[in-house]
Amino acid sequence: MANAIAAGEVIERPASVVKELIENSLDAGASRISVEIDGGGSRLIRVTDNGRGMPAGELALAFQRHATSKLREVGDLSRISTFGFRGEALASIAAVAVVTALSREATSLAGASLSVSTGEGGNVVPAAAPPGTTVEVRDLFRNTPARRAFLRSERTEARACLRVVSEAALGRPDVRLEAFLGARRVLVSPGGGDIVDAARAVLGRAVAEQLLPVAWAVGNIAVSGVLGAPGVAQASRNSLVLMVNGRRVHQRGLLAAVEGAYRGMIEVGRHPLAVIDVRCALSDVDVNVHPTKREVRFREDGRFFDAVQRACWGALRNARPAGIELAVEVGRLEVGADVQPPDGRVEGMSSGPAQIDLLGEQLGLNDDALRLADAVNWRYLGQAHNRYLVVETERGIALLDQHAAHEKILYARIVESLTDGPEAGTAPSQGLLTPTLLEVGPLMVAGLVDCGELLRRTGFDLEAFGEATIRCSAVPMGTRLSELPALLGEVLGTSGGDRERPATQTHKVAASVACHTAIRFGDPVTSEEVTRLLIDLANTPGGITCPHGRPSVLLLSERDLLGAFRRRP
Ligand code: ADP
Ligand code: MG
Repeated sequence: MANAIAAGEVIERPASVVKELIENSLDAGASRISVEIDGGGSRLIRVTDNGRGMPAGELALAFQRHATSKLREVGDLSRISTFGFRGEALASIAAVAVVTALSREATSLAGASLSVSTGEGGNVVPAAAPPGTTVEVRDLFRNTPARRAFLRSERTEARACLRVVSEAALGRPDVRLEAFLGARRVLVSPGGGDIVDAARAVLGRAVAEQLLPVAWAVGNIAVSGVLGAPGVAQASRNSLVLMVNGRRVHQRGLLAAVEGAYRGMIEVGRHPLAVIDVRCALSDVDVNVHPTKREVRFREDGRFFDAVQRACWGALRNARPAGIELAVEVGRLEVGADVQPPDGRVEGMSSGPAQIDLLGEQLGLNDDALRLADAVNWRYLGQAHNRYLVVETERGIALLDQHAAHEKILYARIVESLTDGPEAGTAPSQGLLTPTLLEVGPLMVAGLVDCGELLRRTGFDLEAFGEATIRCSAVPMGTRLSELPALLGEVLGTSGGDRERPATQTHKVAASVACHTAIRFGDPVTSEEVTRLLIDLANTPGGITCPHGRPSVLLLSERDLLGAFRRRP
């Protein structure tokens, strides 16, 4: 009964079984793992590995709750390097299904097998087997109808299982993972150790070509992995795969760090694609938080947040796409159509339904992208309502929100000049003939202490002038003096409060300065100014959205126009 209760926590759905079994295989040092799924995993899940196997004499023990070979003493809990350590998975699965384990150590002449049916163990019998372990789980939740009733459709459950396999393949590119739905092989990762190869197998070729490598180390924290270019933003968070020492975890803080790094590059409501592994001392992370082992706690989590965000920034900054992309028409690509096994063989890999919901689901690849080369052929037609710039392009008519577009350019420049590490330069500044005194209140004056250095580098020269007043003798180039009080209110107001991360601070300050120095929505502009702006925009990564995530460019494609006028294309 205790096992069945524990199963409720550990084994929520078929995908949980897949996760636990794959983790056991990885813990056993396997270099090849195959996962077979039938009937959405309820009918059958079979995981076969070539790991070190179990001696016949320990097979029965493996099914005992709290029996684990991965801990010897309590102290080991603070240096866990394996996925498993609670000794609960096999016992829990066997409490709610019919489980057969077949295993052979490489050094043994023969293998052994043991079946456990909803908690009732049979006898260990000798059996022929290759070195490694096969665990077969049939009739999941046969004795817990309530749980069974909560399962979604077979297809959905199968997809959830596949997602687990995909994530394992991305997390361990050195292991060859295969997944079968029924007789169909739907996924195979090459196992050569290269994360881009793994990503190609899991996410498809199109996405793999748009990945930026991440590599960053600070102190004893190392961050590695790949980020999707801003253009492959996703509609869901499914493609944000976060690992800590190789373990797939859900950690809101670190997810926010990754998403924060993309701020201003992708539209609000969309999410980046990223596979990030954070390596740190085993003693700096507590993995024993929840029975599913998906939550972790860090010692000094701020350090981890900063490391991840800096790593992502670095990767994204190096990206510098050679043009802007105008995404109005967002084409959808079904991953399945494009997934090719690396060895060139295609086995049932076409566009099976299971494939579609994989990590690369809903790739927002736009089919109407304008690149830098096109920008040369842009022809500025004029300004409308003192708000919009009308530009003729080879693909159609582009409408720019003049404020948002300019703001984005300035924002990218400021961020770039501020985030290049300790030797970072400063943004251009302009001195005031007569310093201005601004009464801002004691809270804001206190804010100067928190972000004084950042503001100095942004181009401000500020000093406290008594308890509640600030003396300002220089401002970022182009700041409108009439907006200075509002700007200072914003930048000083962003500091303090909830121990804000430096990364977030930089973003906010840069966004505020950009906003108050950019051409206003409603100001007339000269065509020289516009020409400059178009060239700059073409050189700004992620130019399609302003720092606040609003779109800055709209494209009425030739096709849209023809359609609207009911003309044949
Ligand atoms: P845990 O992984 O937390 O130790 P499990 O219930 O998942 O607990 O597994 C119990 C034990 O069974 C493991 O500690 C390990 O010794 C053994 N075991 C399970 N799966 C495998 C496998 N695929 N290869 C070798 N040993 C395994
Ligand atoms: Mg385990």
